[in-house]
Amino acid sequence: MTKTPGKKTPQHISTKALHAAEEIDPVTGATTPSIVPAASFVPPKGNKIFSAYEYSTDMGYSYSRWASPTVGLLEKKMAALENGEDAVVFASGMAAATGLFIYKLKAGDHMALGNVGYPGIAEFAHHTLMKFGVNVTFFDPSDLGEAAAAIRPDTKLVFIDTPANPILRLADISAIAEITHANGAELVIDSTFATPVATQPLALGADYVMHSLTKFLNGHGDALGGVVVGKKSDMADLRTESLIHLGSNLGAFEAWLVLRGIQTLWPRMVMHQDNAMRVARFLEGHPQVTRVNYPGLTSHPQHDLAKRQMKNFGGVLAFCLKGGAKSAARVLEKLEVIENAVSLGKTKSLIYFIATDELQKNSFKLNKKELAKYMDWAGEGVIRFSVGLESPEDLIADLDQAMKVLEQ
Ligand SMILES: *Cc1c(COP(=O)(O)O)cnc(C)c1O
Repeated sequence: MTKTPGKKTPQHISTKALHAAEEIDPVTGATTPSIVPAASFVPPKGNKIFSAYEYSTDMGYSYSRWASPTVGLLEKKMAALENGEDAVVFASGMAAATGLFIYKLKAGDHMALGNVGYPGIAEFAHHTLMKFGVNVTFFDPSDLGEAAAAIRPDTKLVFIDTPANPILRLADISAIAEITHANGAELVIDSTFATPVATQPLALGADYVMHSLTKFLNGHGDALGGVVVGKKSDMADLRTESLIHLGSNLGAFEAWLVLRGIQTLWPRMVMHQDNAMRVARFLEGHPQVTRVNYPGLTSHPQHDLAKRQMKNFGGVLAFCLKGGAKSAARVLEKLEVIENAVSLGKTKSLIYFIATDELQKNSFKLNKKELAKYMDWAGEGVIRFSVGLESPEDLIADLDQAMKVLEQ
């Protein structure tokens, strides 16, 4: 029995998170998906193919570097959550993004890339893509004039994340999609911070949406993963050219953990947002805080866009303290509940100071004008706070007691 009534009736995302693509196990009657760790599968009768170029997922399973049941269920679930035709799951968000670049781009091609975003992607563009002869223009996608200049008739791919790591700057997806398509290019949105609960980039005109599944989708900080969602024919080619040939596959156990995490995606995002809003308002009123970036605050420079484009303002905020990096180090050391570690989107709160000079030197390499714009949002660095599911009173009390060190 398949449990996909969504084929007839459009379902709410919270229902899809629980039911989409899942089936009652025909052998055991199990109501929870099984973990299938097999590396190879006896092919259905008549299927004797050996090359990945002859393979499609409709043929069943053959070798789990090509496709496998538990990962396949996660792919179908993610396609349903993003209202896309198909999805390919990778071992991490970086594997998903770089897999898409390798599938789409070749020497001589041009890509326009948001100049603020996940540092690993900026570094890959500066070093690896350029080494392979891809031309990359870095631009500020919050400025449509800059977008129109950066996206050219020879542009193949446009890649941006919104809200952008680590400053929560937004990009208008439908406006950028229009510029992209007018130039015959394709748009990729890294929607990791937004999640499918907040924003559905494909419905706004993006051609591909990618996520680090490591963050809010898994949600528990205990598995890595990545995904690209898009058209069926593109996903078939992405699978062959990138996943199968690079071998950046997610294992069945991790896929199962992510599937389990996704069951509670909706209620977690509702709570992450409520807690982040409470913490953001507290920080905004604190005398030691010079700036708070959170799309849900009316003080966010793009709050109107946030209201149009995001059904949920998310669980990540960034703030700056009087005294910059030195104050940040002193405060983070005093925290008793909130954990001082990288990453985001997990049940427990995570906080980390991200220094502007380090990002600038190793990852973003912004020109003078762009760096000045970045520093309007970040100063000499931001404290990125992934607000967890603890009681908001406890989180605020923890920040409040830690910030007392600045009065000494
Ligand atoms: C974490 C992250 C990535 C990279 O994902 P990994 O799973 O760590 O490889 C990409 N984009 C954004 C916005 C992220 O936060």
